[in-house]
Amino acid sequence: MKTIGIIGGGQLGLMIAEEAQKLGVHTITLDPAPDAPAFAVCDRCIVAAYDDAVALEQLCRQCDAVTYEFENVPGEVLVPLVEKYNIPQGYSPLYDSQDRLREKDNARAHGFATPDYRAVDDERGLHEALVEVGYPCVLKTRTLGYDGHGQAVLRSEVDVANALSLLTVPCILERFVDFDYEVSLVMVSDGVRIVTFPVGRNVHRDGILDLCFVSAEGLSPDLEARMRQAGEDFMRGCGYVGILAVELFVKGDSFYFNEMAPRPHNSGHWTIEGCTTNQYRELVRFLVGEPLEEPQIVAPTVMKNILGRDLEAARVIEAEGHEGVYVHLYGKRESRPRRKMGHITFVGSTAAEFAARWAGRFS
Ligand code: AMP
Repeated sequence: MKTIGIIGGGQLGLMIAEEAQKLGVHTITLDPAPDAPAFAVCDRCIVAAYDDAVALEQLCRQCDAVTYEFENVPGEVLVPLVEKYNIPQGYSPLYDSQDRLREKDNARAHGFATPDYRAVDDERGLHEALVEVGYPCVLKTRTLGYDGHGQAVLRSEVDVANALSLLTVPCILERFVDFDYEVSLVMVSDGVRIVTFPVGRNVHRDGILDLCFVSAEGLSPDLEARMRQAGEDFMRGCGYVGILAVELFVKGDSFYFNEMAPRPHNSGHWTIEGCTTNQYRELVRFLVGEPLEEPQIVAPTVMKNILGRDLEAARVIEAEGHEGVYVHLYGKRESRPRRKMGHITFVGSTAAEFAARWAGRFS
């Protein structure tokens, strides 16, 4: 029996471990929190900081392959391990995604269009970049931003003063894209073949993914085919293997790279029940060297993220036991209004049906 190691025991680690179990693969998870969600299902747990070199080495030694479920694993820690152990995705997709400037330069160099952007290091640089990029635009910290943290939208000069607080660290100023909708491409590559999951439409609320609708209304087969081609060319061009999620803005017939993550993605949760195979299972297959399976959508599907404020509503829906409604609660002990506590997948529901039947149950 093979064993995979997962650096990070949040909900993504939990779902990787669940799928590994179904494939008969052992899992060992490393996370600093003794009550990390993945610890409830993995075979062995290592409670240690992400930069604890001794603990990480212990994890790698016990595993046939190791993966990570979040982007901010430090290079100083990972690179020496990649040289000694089987961490097939390596450090390069993490390196490329850990800095928004590098990430966008890399996306452009490998064929994606991006919103116009400039590096900004101080107030003077911001004013210069504003002249070139123009309003409206978004100022983002280059590193460690997530779920809308570390960014500010500037619609006019009035907003500049508010945005200055971000400039204690290097930033990037991006043109604001008045997009029609957002999508993500989730791909798994074994180095030869790439499987790509059906593309859904993502809706964010307060910078956090709220809903994912698959199939994406308004997304023509031609546009989806061009996105998939761009995604696959990008993966091959960068030499990435394993899993990669790329978030795109769609405007008319064009799409723009926003960001990427070399791990399973929140917008891919729906694949667990809405697709013939899911992002976690294909990642595990890649890690243990099994052939990848081409995913097919089962039925129109809606995924609703459950933050703390909707936890009670989710529990009620779970207790009601509806057909085609799959409630995932991650077992996090402490609930906060904006913390991701679970998600619900509505298989067989279109966006209109979700709006009519379910949307009113949530805040
Ligand atoms: P990010 O952390 O870069 O993914 O940004 C979080 C969310 O903010 C995105 O999913 C978009 O909804 C919005 N956003 C970020 N950058 C832009 C942009 N350049 N134009 C329009 N909306 C943006």
